[in-house]
Amino acid sequence: MIEIVPYNDDVTCIKTATEQDGQAIMFVYSFLIRDTLFDAGCGNAVREFEEFASKNEINQVYISHSHEDHVGCLHIFGGKTKIYANEMTQKNLREPQQIGEFFDFVWGQPKPILDINTMLDTFSIGDLSFEVIPLPGHAADLIGFYEPKKRWFFSFDAIPLPSKKKIAMPEENVPLMVVTMEKIRDMDIEILFDSHKGPIENPREYIQTRIDYINMIQKEATALHESGKSIDEIQVALDLEGPWYLEMTKDRFGIDFFLKSLLFDKAEQ
Ligand SMILES: [Zn+2]
Repeated sequence: MIEIVPYNDDVTCIKTATEQDGQAIMFVYSFLIRDTLFDAGCGNAVREFEEFASKNEINQVYISHSHEDHVGCLHIFGGKTKIYANEMTQKNLREPQQIGEFFDFVWGQPKPILDINTMLDTFSIGDLSFEVIPLPGHAADLIGFYEPKKRWFFSFDAIPLPSKKKIAMPEENVPLMVVTMEKIRDMDIEILFDSHKGPIENPREYIQTRIDYINMIQKEATALHESGKSIDEIQVALDLEGPWYLEMTKDRFGIDFFLKSLLFDKAEQ
């Protein structure tokens, strides 16, 4: 399913999701800024996305990172629509990871994309000038787009959606995610555009809540680890419970990955 929600004169939110019993399982946002698209939705909404694209002039697509909910409809673009991605993302787009049954149901398996242009450090959309900002942590290839005059920051998946993050993928570096969040928090931003929450108008407070929770868990987990507790014991002691779908992710996400990253990862790539 697709929902088109104009936000202001320049930005339109394009929400895509898989529909189940008339409801979205989970929405992911792409953003249309004049003739330019940031990210390209989830593959299970490709029919609706194609219809939307046919009614709008889209000359460029800029990709934040290669996760399947951000690039699922990218294969419908080509020809006069230029696709831009950084080098690491390009590699993943050429050979997309097989995402497994659960995520194929939730988002859809992306198709390989071959014709991709290199993302530069800056780009313009008319009189809007965007800076490309690396946002490692959630994914090594994640980048964001900052428009300093408007004070808009497109952060995509840099900030965890739940206020209390408890699960992670093994490749996520949670301490690095916190450093990235602190970097965004300290920038001059009026509106944060998040890939699962949409526009956020109190960015500093929103980000700080998430940083505070992760820092608290890290402190408590470290103390328990130093007292000789195992990862499983730490999980029980801190009463960390995952969401209902955690088992269905078949170890793509885990509470143990989250705790291990907090205990052992360094905030560097
Ligand atoms: Zn992601």
